Amino acid sequence: MTGHRITLLGSQDRALKEWLCGHPEGHERGAIVLFRRLARVVNHQPASDRFLAIDVIRLTDEWILDSSSTHLKINMRMLPDVFLRCETERLELGFVHNHPDGYVGFSAQDEINELNILHGLSGCNSQDSYLIAMTLSDGNWFARIRQGRSLETPLLVRHICVLSDKIEIHGISLPEESSDILLRQESAFGMPFNSKLQSLRAVVVGAGGTGSPVATLLARGGVGELIIIDGDDLDKSNMNRVRGYRAQDIGKNKAQSLKEFIDSLGLNVSVSAINGYLNESFEAVDALSSADVIFGCTDDISGRNLMNQALYYHAQVYIDCGLTGRVDVHEDGYPYLRDHRGRVSCILPESGACLRCQRVVTDEKLRYEQAIKDNPELAKLDPVTLKRDYYLVGGGEQAPGVGPFTSATADNVVATFMNLVRPYRSISEELRQDNIWIDFIHMTIHSNEPVNDPECICCRSGFLLLRDEGKFRLEIPRLGEINATL
Ligand SMILES: [Zn+2]
Ligand SMILES: [Zn+2]
Repeated sequence: MTGHRITLLGSQDRALKEWLCGHPEGHERGAIVLFRRLARVVNHQPASDRFLAIDVIRLTDEWILDSSSTHLKINMRMLPDVFLRCETERLELGFVHNHPDGYVGFSAQDEINELNILHGLSGCNSQDSYLIAMTLSDGNWFARIRQGRSLETPLLVRHICVLSDKIEIHGISLPEESSDILLRQESAFGMPFNSKLQSLRAVVVGAGGTGSPVATLLARGGVGELIIIDGDDLDKSNMNRVRGYRAQDIGKNKAQSLKEFIDSLGLNVSVSAINGYLNESFEAVDALSSADVIFGCTDDISGRNLMNQALYYHAQVYIDCGLTGRVDVHEDGYPYLRDHRGRVSCILPESGACLRCQRVVTDEKLRYEQAIKDNPELAKLDPVTLKRDYYLVGGGEQAPGVGPFTSATADNVVATFMNLVRPYRSISEELRQDNIWIDFIHMTIHSNEPVNDPECICCRSGFLLLRDEGKFRLEIPRLGEINATL
């Protein structure tokens, strides 16, 4: 799908709406919103930049020359200070106003105002500058983007995404008729639901027992753009629980084979495969940054740690899953499942505890994983020896890898995602939206309380929220410099 994407946090959306609709006499009001532009290229996907709202500046009285319920005239002399800030902080300018009379979209006068602002901006900064224009009418956002070098022709915006404890999607265009494939889904959630999914870009990290059903369900459910990341080859022993692979795929890269399978289904989805690991592949990290929604279906802690930070830098939704369990041996010598549970964690930039606060990612687990990577022999040692001789805590956890359990967890990942786009769940108070465990032994569902760490740089202190990466991807030199020319 073509068109750029705009992301607002729920707090920014609320602040903007409160300001714009708060004029005592019902006049139009305006605001400047500064955006960070993420332009990361992904093979086989259309160019679609993400514009993340970074700051909101209310246009208070000193900005306004004249206003009514149908027009707003601002003092252009106030703008150069904002232009300077855009240049020094590498941000793009957004001009936002409301239409109290309910006029939908952009008026002829809006166009004249946009061109005036962009003339000034291109003159002060450069012709590469963008102007993001947004209007609000009846609670709905509309947007278009212009660039200094082709200011007469607005660039298409495919959606404006608001991330609170759900995903609100504004400004999408609805198709003339529904896709036959999605009719049943439409009868459950309505027509805009399918169009919303169609405008989203999802990345699935890991294409094994949980990742392959997640990816195929997303494609079948109507997500428009799908990127699958996995550096592993398919092993014969995976075949008991994966989806979409055939015998001839054994020994080949999982991401690539799964892409080929999904391509063969005749669905309206554009699929990319990346043969690599998040912590090693620049291409994979760029793909991650380009997505609206991240699905973590990997079993490695360092990959999860990276995604757990990326969602705050890049204002994304992150749904992670994993299975845990313990197999014991019965008196008669047969193994039996003593514990087996699947977890679905659902984290948004301003909602939910992060994976560190959910204790899915810990320094101990990261250390253990790195030590096993450096010396695979350690994996054979028992937890007591590991702790005593190597100061390592970890291991002992077993995820048996049985099809119905991995699939059920994957199903709940996609159901959780759909609940964010069209909330349908009415869960009991003991359950948390961000942490759901399915206990396959007792057939119960429960949540864990997160640790209460007000200092957490991910989900509590706001330290990583919308933070500028600067020179390197996610500020990690190992992940290479962000291509400044894009
Ligand atoms: Zn207007
Ligand atoms: Zn946290």
